Amino acid sequence: MSAKKKIGRLIPYPVIENGRKIINFGPKRCQVCESPIRQMQDAGYGFEVLERLQVVGGLKRFADKCPVCHSSSRERLVWFWLSQGGRGFRFPDTARIAHFAPEKGLTKRIRDAAPANYTAYDFDPSRYRHLDHLEQADLSGLHLPDNSVDLLICNHVLEHVPDVAVALGEIFRVLAPQGVAILQVPIALKLDKTIELPLSSTPQERVQLLGQDDHLRLFTAADYPAVLAAAGFEVELFDPFEAETALATRWQLDPFEKLHLCRKLV
Ligand SMILES: [Zn+2]
Repeated sequence: MSAKKKIGRLIPYPVIENGRKIINFGPKRCQVCESPIRQMQDAGYGFEVLERLQVVGGLKRFADKCPVCHSSSRERLVWFWLSQGGRGFRFPDTARIAHFAPEKGLTKRIRDAAPANYTAYDFDPSRYRHLDHLEQADLSGLHLPDNSVDLLICNHVLEHVPDVAVALGEIFRVLAPQGVAILQVPIALKLDKTIELPLSSTPQERVQLLGQDDHLRLFTAADYPAVLAAAGFEVELFDPFEAETALATRWQLDPFEKLHLCRKLV
Protein backbone atom coordinates (compact mmCIF):
# COMPACT_ATOMS: atom_id res chain seq x y z
CA MET A 1 0.00 0.00 0.00
CA SER A 2 1.34 3.45 -0.92
CA ALA A 3 2.14 6.03 1.78
CA LYS A 4 -0.68 8.23 0.47
CA LYS A 5 -3.15 5.34 0.83
CA LYS A 6 -1.89 4.50 4.30
CA ILE A 7 -2.43 8.09 5.46
CA GLY A 8 -5.85 8.11 3.76
CA ARG A 9 -6.84 5.02 5.74
CA LEU A 10 -6.37 6.95 8.99
CA ILE A 11 -9.01 9.49 8.01
CA PRO A 12 -12.65 8.42 8.62
CA TYR A 13 -14.44 7.89 5.29
CA PRO A 14 -17.26 10.42 5.92
CA VAL A 15 -14.59 13.11 6.39
CA ILE A 16 -13.03 12.20 3.03
CA GLU A 17 -16.42 12.25 1.32
CA ASN A 18 -17.38 15.61 2.81
CA GLY A 19 -14.01 16.99 1.72
CA ARG A 20 -14.70 15.85 -1.85
CA LYS A 21 -18.12 17.54 -1.75
CA ILE A 22 -16.63 20.85 -0.62
CA ILE A 23 -13.71 20.81 -3.06
CA ASN A 24 -15.88 19.85 -6.03
CA PHE A 25 -18.98 21.92 -5.25
CA GLY A 26 -20.62 23.50 -8.29
CA PRO A 27 -23.74 24.01 -10.42
CA LYS A 28 -23.93 20.52 -11.96
CA ARG A 29 -25.35 17.43 -10.24
CA CYS A 30 -24.37 13.76 -10.17
CA GLN A 31 -27.41 11.70 -11.16
CA VAL A 32 -26.36 8.89 -8.83
CA CYS A 33 -25.27 10.49 -5.53
CA GLU A 34 -27.01 13.83 -6.23
CA SER A 35 -23.98 15.85 -5.10
CA PRO A 36 -23.75 19.36 -6.59
CA ILE A 37 -20.47 19.31 -8.52
CA ARG A 38 -18.42 21.69 -10.63
CA GLN A 39 -17.48 19.20 -13.34
CA MET A 40 -17.13 15.48 -14.06
CA GLN A 41 -13.71 13.85 -14.25
CA ASP A 42 -12.33 11.67 -17.05
CA ALA A 43 -12.91 7.90 -16.65
CA GLY A 44 -11.30 4.76 -18.11
CA TYR A 45 -7.76 3.56 -18.62
CA GLY A 46 -6.86 4.54 -22.17
CA PHE A 47 -4.98 1.34 -23.07
CA GLU A 48 -4.49 0.89 -26.82
CA VAL A 49 -6.39 -2.41 -26.98
CA LEU A 50 -9.49 -0.84 -25.40
CA GLU A 51 -9.62 1.78 -28.14
CA ARG A 52 -8.77 -0.65 -30.96
CA LEU A 53 -11.46 -3.16 -29.95
CA GLN A 54 -13.92 -0.43 -28.86
CA VAL A 55 -14.45 -1.91 -25.42
CA VAL A 56 -17.67 -0.53 -23.94
CA GLY A 57 -17.25 -0.16 -20.18
CA GLY A 58 -13.47 0.13 -20.52
CA LEU A 59 -12.84 2.93 -23.01
CA LYS A 60 -11.64 6.28 -21.81
CA ARG A 61 -14.55 8.68 -21.49
CA PHE A 62 -14.03 12.39 -20.95
CA ALA A 63 -15.96 14.31 -18.27
CA ASP A 64 -17.77 11.15 -17.22
CA LYS A 65 -17.01 10.39 -13.56
CA CYS A 66 -18.49 12.01 -10.46
CA PRO A 67 -15.66 13.40 -8.29
CA VAL A 68 -17.61 12.59 -5.10
CA CYS A 69 -19.03 9.06 -5.52
CA HIS A 70 -16.89 8.07 -8.54
CA SER A 71 -19.93 6.89 -10.52
CA SER A 72 -19.40 6.93 -14.27
CA SER A 73 -21.83 6.20 -17.11
CA ARG A 74 -21.73 2.51 -16.08
CA GLU A 75 -23.29 3.24 -12.69
CA ARG A 76 -25.60 5.91 -14.12
CA LEU A 77 -27.06 3.32 -16.50
CA VAL A 78 -27.89 0.95 -13.63
CA TRP A 79 -29.49 3.71 -11.58
CA PHE A 80 -31.33 4.99 -14.67
CA TRP A 81 -33.02 1.61 -15.07
CA LEU A 82 -33.75 1.20 -11.38
CA SER A 83 -35.06 4.71 -10.82
CA GLN A 84 -36.51 5.95 -14.09
CA GLY A 85 -38.99 3.21 -14.63
CA GLY A 86 -36.87 1.24 -17.02
CA ARG A 87 -39.41 -1.52 -17.48
CA GLY A 88 -39.46 -3.82 -14.52
CA PHE A 89 -38.06 -3.44 -11.09
CA ARG A 90 -39.71 -1.10 -8.55
CA PHE A 91 -38.04 -1.71 -5.20
CA PRO A 92 -40.91 -3.38 -3.36
CA ASP A 93 -40.24 -3.24 0.37
CA THR A 94 -39.89 -6.98 0.50
CA ALA A 95 -37.31 -7.24 -2.30
CA ARG A 96 -34.15 -9.02 -1.20
CA ILE A 97 -31.15 -7.31 -2.75
CA ALA A 98 -27.63 -8.69 -3.07
CA HIS A 99 -24.99 -6.25 -4.35
CA PHE A 100 -21.61 -7.74 -5.27
CA ALA A 101 -18.51 -5.54 -5.62
CA PRO A 102 -20.75 -2.65 -4.50
CA GLU A 103 -20.18 0.64 -6.27
CA LYS A 104 -20.14 3.65 -3.90
CA GLY A 105 -22.88 5.81 -5.41
CA LEU A 106 -25.19 2.90 -6.23
CA THR A 107 -24.82 1.45 -2.74
CA LYS A 108 -26.17 4.58 -1.14
CA ARG A 109 -29.16 4.99 -3.46
CA ILE A 110 -30.18 1.34 -3.43
CA ARG A 111 -29.72 0.96 0.32
CA ASP A 112 -31.75 4.12 0.94
CA ALA A 113 -34.51 2.78 -1.30
CA ALA A 114 -34.62 -0.67 0.30
CA PRO A 115 -32.78 -0.52 3.61
CA ALA A 116 -34.23 -3.62 5.22
CA ASN A 117 -33.15 -6.22 2.71
CA TYR A 118 -29.93 -4.89 1.22
CA THR A 119 -26.70 -6.87 1.65
CA ALA A 120 -23.33 -6.04 0.10
CA TYR A 121 -20.77 -8.73 -0.71
CA ASP A 122 -17.23 -8.94 -1.98
CA PHE A 123 -14.45 -11.46 -2.30
CA ASP A 124 -12.23 -9.07 -0.36
CA PRO A 125 -14.31 -6.87 2.03
CA SER A 126 -11.16 -5.05 3.23
CA ARG A 127 -11.12 -3.12 -0.08
CA TYR A 128 -14.20 -1.12 0.93
CA ARG A 129 -14.36 1.91 3.16
CA HIS A 130 -17.73 3.40 2.23
CA LEU A 131 -19.69 0.57 3.86
CA ASP A 132 -19.89 -0.34 7.52
CA HIS A 133 -20.97 -3.90 6.78
CA LEU A 134 -19.95 -6.12 3.90
CA GLU A 135 -20.07 -9.91 3.77
CA GLN A 136 -17.30 -12.00 2.30
CA ALA A 137 -18.49 -14.02 -0.70
CA ASP A 138 -16.86 -16.11 -3.40
CA LEU A 139 -18.81 -16.51 -6.63
CA SER A 140 -17.36 -19.98 -7.10
CA GLY A 141 -19.40 -21.10 -4.06
CA LEU A 142 -21.90 -18.69 -2.49
CA HIS A 143 -23.22 -19.26 1.02
CA LEU A 144 -26.66 -17.86 0.11
CA PRO A 145 -29.64 -20.27 -0.06
CA ASP A 146 -31.30 -21.21 -3.36
CA ASN A 147 -33.94 -18.75 -4.68
CA SER A 148 -33.15 -16.17 -1.99
CA VAL A 149 -32.44 -12.94 -3.95
CA ASP A 150 -34.89 -10.78 -5.93
CA LEU A 151 -32.39 -8.25 -7.31
CA LEU A 152 -28.77 -9.21 -7.73
CA ILE A 153 -26.23 -6.66 -8.95
CA CYS A 154 -22.79 -7.86 -9.93
CA ASN A 155 -21.10 -5.49 -12.34
CA HIS A 156 -17.63 -5.85 -13.82
CA VAL A 157 -16.83 -8.98 -11.85
CA LEU A 158 -17.38 -11.86 -14.29
CA GLU A 159 -14.37 -10.83 -16.40
CA HIS A 160 -12.20 -11.51 -13.30
CA VAL A 161 -13.50 -14.86 -11.99
CA PRO A 162 -11.56 -18.10 -12.68
CA ASP A 163 -14.58 -19.96 -14.09
CA VAL A 164 -17.42 -17.86 -15.50
CA ALA A 165 -19.82 -20.82 -15.94
CA VAL A 166 -19.48 -21.76 -12.25
CA ALA A 167 -20.05 -18.14 -11.14
CA LEU A 168 -23.14 -17.79 -13.36
CA GLY A 169 -24.43 -21.11 -12.06
CA GLU A 170 -24.19 -19.79 -8.51
CA ILE A 171 -25.90 -16.51 -9.42
CA PHE A 172 -28.71 -18.43 -11.14
CA ARG A 173 -29.09 -20.73 -8.14
CA VAL A 174 -29.50 -17.95 -5.55
CA LEU A 175 -31.75 -15.76 -7.74
CA ALA A 176 -35.45 -16.17 -6.94
CA PRO A 177 -37.93 -17.07 -9.71
CA GLN A 178 -38.93 -13.80 -11.47
CA GLY A 179 -35.83 -12.16 -9.96
CA VAL A 180 -33.46 -9.97 -11.96
CA ALA A 181 -29.67 -10.02 -12.08
CA ILE A 182 -27.75 -7.08 -13.56
CA LEU A 183 -24.44 -8.50 -14.74
CA GLN A 184 -22.44 -5.92 -16.70
CA VAL A 185 -18.99 -6.71 -18.13
CA PRO A 186 -16.72 -4.96 -20.64
CA ILE A 187 -17.98 -5.69 -24.18
CA ALA A 188 -15.66 -5.45 -27.19
CA LEU A 189 -17.60 -4.14 -30.17
CA LYS A 190 -14.80 -4.80 -32.67
CA LEU A 191 -13.88 -8.32 -31.63
CA ASP A 192 -14.96 -11.41 -33.57
CA LYS A 193 -14.50 -14.04 -30.91
CA THR A 194 -14.42 -13.87 -27.11
CA ILE A 195 -10.88 -14.03 -25.69
CA GLU A 196 -10.31 -16.31 -22.69
CA LEU A 197 -6.88 -16.36 -21.06
CA PRO A 198 -5.65 -19.08 -18.69
CA LEU A 199 -5.08 -18.39 -14.99
CA SER A 200 -1.36 -18.78 -15.73
CA SER A 201 -1.38 -15.71 -18.04
CA THR A 202 0.83 -12.82 -16.97
CA PRO A 203 -0.39 -9.31 -16.06
CA GLN A 204 1.46 -8.02 -19.14
CA GLU A 205 -0.40 -10.43 -21.45
CA ARG A 206 -3.72 -9.47 -19.89
CA VAL A 207 -3.12 -5.74 -20.36
CA GLN A 208 -1.99 -6.30 -23.93
CA LEU A 209 -4.91 -8.53 -24.96
CA LEU A 210 -7.72 -7.51 -22.61
CA GLY A 211 -6.83 -4.01 -21.39
CA GLN A 212 -6.54 -4.77 -17.66
CA ASP A 213 -3.98 -6.74 -15.66
CA ASP A 214 -6.52 -8.72 -13.60
CA HIS A 215 -9.02 -9.60 -16.34
CA LEU A 216 -9.19 -13.15 -17.71
CA ARG A 217 -11.62 -12.70 -20.61
CA LEU A 218 -13.10 -10.18 -22.98
CA PHE A 219 -16.56 -10.85 -24.47
CA THR A 220 -18.00 -9.89 -27.83
CA ALA A 221 -21.44 -8.28 -27.96
CA ALA A 222 -22.90 -11.49 -29.41
CA ASP A 223 -21.13 -14.00 -27.19
CA TYR A 224 -21.97 -12.49 -23.81
CA PRO A 225 -25.79 -12.80 -24.00
CA ALA A 226 -25.29 -16.35 -25.28
CA VAL A 227 -23.12 -17.18 -22.25
CA LEU A 228 -25.82 -15.77 -19.96
CA ALA A 229 -28.56 -17.72 -21.76
CA ALA A 230 -26.51 -20.92 -21.51
CA ALA A 231 -26.55 -20.46 -17.71
CA GLY A 232 -30.36 -20.48 -17.81
CA PHE A 233 -31.18 -16.77 -17.85
CA GLU A 234 -33.75 -15.06 -20.02
CA VAL A 235 -31.71 -12.08 -21.25
CA GLU A 236 -33.10 -8.66 -22.11
CA LEU A 237 -30.87 -5.92 -23.49
CA PHE A 238 -32.13 -2.58 -22.21
CA ASP A 239 -31.13 0.34 -24.43
CA PRO A 240 -31.83 3.60 -22.54
CA PHE A 241 -31.69 5.68 -25.73
CA GLU A 242 -34.40 3.55 -27.28
CA ALA A 243 -36.56 3.70 -24.17
CA GLU A 244 -36.05 7.34 -23.15
CA THR A 245 -33.87 9.25 -25.64
CA ALA A 246 -34.09 12.74 -24.10
CA LEU A 247 -33.56 11.52 -20.55
CA ALA A 248 -30.69 9.20 -21.50
CA THR A 249 -28.99 12.13 -23.26
CA ARG A 250 -29.49 14.40 -20.24
CA TRP A 251 -28.00 11.71 -17.99
CA GLN A 252 -24.95 11.52 -20.30
CA LEU A 253 -25.25 7.76 -20.65
CA ASP A 254 -22.93 5.87 -22.99
CA PRO A 255 -24.85 5.43 -26.28
CA PHE A 256 -23.05 2.11 -26.85
CA GLU A 257 -23.73 0.54 -23.47
CA LYS A 258 -26.77 -1.64 -23.00
CA LEU A 259 -27.92 -3.16 -19.72
CA HIS A 260 -27.92 -6.96 -19.55
CA LEU A 261 -31.02 -7.82 -17.54
CA CYS A 262 -30.97 -11.51 -16.65
CA ARG A 263 -34.20 -13.04 -15.44
CA LYS A 264 -34.88 -16.42 -13.93
CA LEU A 265 -38.24 -17.48 -15.25
CA VAL A 266 -38.44 -21.00 -13.84
ZN1 LIG B 1 -21.86 11.07 -7.51
